[in-house]
Order: sequence, then structure tokens, then C-alpha cells
Amino acid sequence: MNDEDEDDNGLPKSYDNPAYDKFVEDCLSVGLDPYHYRGRNYYEGPGVNVDYPDELPNTVPCQRDSMGMGFVFYPTGALSRTYECRGCQREFGDRRIAKKCCNAGVAVV
Ligand SMILES: [Zn+2]
Repeated sequence: MNDEDEDDNGLPKSYDNPAYDKFVEDCLSVGLDPYHYRGRNYYEGPGVNVDYPDELPNTVPCQRDSMGMGFVFYPTGALSRTYECRGCQREFGDRRIAKKCCNAGVAVV
């Protein structure tokens, strides 16, 4: 990452990981304000603060850290995953849809 290419939020023009770039693009497309984040487990890449998880756009798989009243979400690094409903074992590409299927929880396949 080249420091001269950072914007005001510390975001580079692009990341080496395409999932990170898609995350930034998806956040911007819904009016969120992503920034360069250093998180747990040596994570360094884009993150975004939201008050409620529902505000996160339908984007690449993310993890989150609790930040007092809200959350910071940031990509796991993978572009896509398959999630399995623990209730009926149907598979979904979107974790939130899988979660609502039987309300029995989801597993990453
Ligand atoms: Zn189900």
C-alpha cells in the first residue's frame, strides 16, 4: 500500500484482495463511510462502522467487532462462501438469508 494513494479515511485506491475492494464499493454504494481498519488477529484492511448489523449492505463475508453502541464490520478475506441452515441443511450464498431460513443458526460449509 502506498501512503500517497490513501484517501482521507486511510483507504488505498485499491487493496490486493478483491474481496476488500468489493466491500469498500458495496459500503459506499449504500452511503456508508468505510475506512482503513486495524482489528483483531492482525487484521488490516477496510472496515465500516454501523449502529445495527442490518445497515451492512449485502456484501462479501464479514466479521465484526463490537464497538460500544455499534459495530465495526470488516471482510473475512473471502469473496464468497456457502452457508448451511442448521435446521434443514439447505445451502445459501448469503449468511443473512440462511439465518432466516429456519432460525436455527447457520454453519459455514
Ligand atoms: Zn432451514
